[in-house]
Order: sequence, then C-alpha cells, then structure tokens
Amino acid sequence: MNDLLPEQSPVWQYLEGQIADLVASYGYREIRFPILEQTGLFKRAIGEVTDIVEKEMYTFDDRNGESVTLRPEGTASCVRAAEQHGLLYNQTQRLWYQGPMFRYERPQKGRLRQFHQVGIETFGMVGPDIDAEIIAMSDRLWRNLGVRSALTLQINSIGSIEARQNYKNALTSYLEGFKEQLDEDSQRRLGSNPLRILDSKSESTQQILADAPDLLDYLDEASVAHFAELKALLDAMGISYQVNSRLVRGLDYYNATVFEWVTDKLGAQGTVCAGGRYDKLVEQLGGRPTPAVGFAMGIERLVLLIEALECVPDELSQQVDVYVVAVGDVMSDGFKIAESIRDALPNLRVQMHCGGGSFKSQLKKADRSGADVALILGENERDEGKVGVKWLREQREQVFVNIAEIEQFLVSL
Ligand code: ATP
Ligand code: MG
Repeated sequence: MNDLLPEQSPVWQYLEGQIADLVASYGYREIRFPILEQTGLFKRAIGEVTDIVEKEMYTFDDRNGESVTLRPEGTASCVRAAEQHGLLYNQTQRLWYQGPMFRYERPQKGRLRQFHQVGIETFGMVGPDIDAEIIAMSDRLWRNLGVRSALTLQINSIGSIEARQNYKNALTSYLEGFKEQLDEDSQRRLGSNPLRILDSKSESTQQILADAPDLLDYLDEASVAHFAELKALLDAMGISYQVNSRLVRGLDYYNATVFEWVTDKLGAQGTVCAGGRYDKLVEQLGGRPTPAVGFAMGIERLVLLIEALECVPDELSQQVDVYVVAVGDVMSDGFKIAESIRDALPNLRVQMHCGGGSFKSQLKKADRSGADVALILGENERDEGKVGVKWLREQREQVFVNIAEIEQFLVSL
C-alpha cells in the first residue's frame, strides 16, 4: 500500500482531471460508495471460485461479528448502491466512480494491495451501441493522454451464460485428457474455473491449449450478432482492435462482450483497462433483470504508462508562480500584497515566504519553489510604495513596480 508523495501528486491530479473532463463530456455522472461492504456481496457478485474471492480479499469481522470486506473492485458495490437507491428502475444510467480498491496480492510492478481504479458502469442498455460508446470513451482518453499508440484493444465475446457453460464442459473434458501435463495452477482451476486456464502464462499449458475447443464456436446466435454489430461500430469509428478468443476475464459475472486495453510497455502487468457486459448481475444481486456493461482502469498502471512514454506535461512540476520575499518589519504589507494578488488573479499560485531569514536565504527558497518571479519587499520598498520584481528563470533586469499596480503588472507577464 503506497503513500502518494507530493512529487507524485501532480501527475495523479493531472490524470484525474483528464478523466473527470472526459466522463463529463460523455454525460456520465459520478457515484460514490463505501470502501467497506458486507463480504457476501462480493462472494455473490464476483463468484466463490475466482482468484479475488478465494485468496485476495481483505475480510474481517467487525465488532458485531459481521463479516465485512474492503472492496476489491467497484462493480458489485455500484450495483448494490444503484439498486438500493432505485437508480435502476425504468431508466438508463451512465455512472462513473473512482477510488482505492484492496486485494491481497504479491506486490510487484503494477500490482499493489491498495490500488486505485476509475470505473464506468452503465445500466439498462442491452445493445452493442453502449459497448461501443464506452470503448470509444476509453479510446479518446488514451488519445488525450498521448498513449494511444502504446495500447492495443483486445475484444472477445464469451457468449451467454448457457453458451459459456457448454464451452466450459467441452474445454474441461478436453483438458482432462492432459491433466498431468498442465501447470499446477491450471490443474487446480480445472475443477473450479477452467476458463481461467486460457489465461495461463505457462508455455506447456499454452501448447496444450492450441488444439483446445474454441470459445467462438460455442457462442449463441444472439451473442454472435451482438459481437458482429460491436465490431461494425468500432470499424465505423476507426477504432482498431484485435479479436482475442482466449480473453475471458477472471470474474464470474461477465457475458457477451469482454475487452481489455493492453500495453507491452509495462512488463508483465500490461492490462491498463478491462471490462465487459454483465447482464445477469443485477438480477443475481436481487434486482430486476437489467442489462449492464462497464470497465475499470488501473490508475497506477496509467501513471506508469504516461511516465514511461514521457507524456507527462512539463508544467506539472511547477507548483508556484510568484514567491513573495519579505525582509524586515514588512510582514503585514507582504501578506496584503499576496492576498490582493490572489483576489485579482485567482489562477496565479502565490507563495508567501514564512519563517523569516535573510534576503539571501529567502531568495534561495524562492528559486527552489519553481516560481517564475520573486516579489521583493523590504522596508525601503515599502516606504516608497513599491515592490521589486526579480525574474528567477530568465536573465532580466530587476524592476520596481508600484504596489497598487502589481496585479496589472503580473497579468501582463
Ligand atoms: P490482472 O490480471 O492484471 O491482475 P484483473 O483481471 O485482476 O487484472 P480487474 O479486476 O479487471 O483486473 O481490474 C481492472 C484493472 O485494475 C486492471 O486492468 C488493472 O489495471 C487494475 N488492477 C487490478 N488489480 C490491480 C492491482 N493489484 N494493482 C494495481 N492495479 C490493479
Ligand atoms: Mg488480478
């Protein structure tokens, strides 16, 4: 679980700002839900035999002996909240959320125990149009951030829940024949979650899978049509993709469309955004049948990606524009100047020197602050009604400006 230090926070704020602007421009509304939920919610939504529920949740009893869990993802909570507050009754919803998620995993690059996601969840829309919309929205984010060329969109259809069950049976009986040759994880999954074996990183398992039945051959007609329309919409928008028939996602609730945005710039943890349809989940959690589709992206991985591709805007490192140096018995005048600049120019970032010290040491701090200019106020300047302006980043003569005209002067810079 990481601390976010002041050096890093500008990148996060930049990314969060980009995302907030993006979702607003598509008409999505923010929802916030608690970090803690009853454990049963995640077990029912995500599935008992998934990696998350089997071994990754932070679960404990509260003082009442009730089992609660730090949310490992947002979809289950979002459905719970939307259902509980009647947001799903006879209406469509386009929602988004952001915040920390918790999974007890082996920490490594791109994998943390407290990480952050931005999620999109939509409800009440059954067709591939909304699938295409949320994919287009993510595509636009990558373009806005300058990382589109480093990402590949992989899509697949995993069919209806019945079709998937048929495929599961076929895959299981095929793999039973190779049981002894499978890697350890896959042997375990054979009995519990055989689809997850398709994800296996083991080369020998992948060799066995080469001749395995193909999920696409098992799809129901409706899913095939849905998938074809989705591809046509993506084609029409010029969004390139790869169909990956091995893509199944690790959670139980998905059906039909699944997708991932992956990069080869981050090593093993290359999925920055993943999602899909979950048309049965609302019902499964006690609501009326409500089609739904969404995705979640990992903020840490996105930060790593924009850093790796050097797409972080230069100006982010600068946190202060103007630094007020005040030497002598002029503190109250210095504060008045700083406050009146903030009144007149609220976008300018003004730092007032606090803590005293010599002119020289204050100027050093001004320089280190990253400010473009230092305003210098001593007793002489104050008596003359002026303030000195010293440029810190360029070779320019220091000038003196009337205190009453300082805002005007700064605006013209
Ligand atoms: P992975 O296979 O990479 O573990 P997942 O299938 O467990 O991913 P999801 O539950 O779909 O991931 O979460 C969506 C996104 O959240 C991931 O694509 C990733 O960007 C991010 N994410 C998931 N788990 C972590 C983690 N432990 N640390 C950092 N980011 C994570
Ligand atoms: Mg995982």
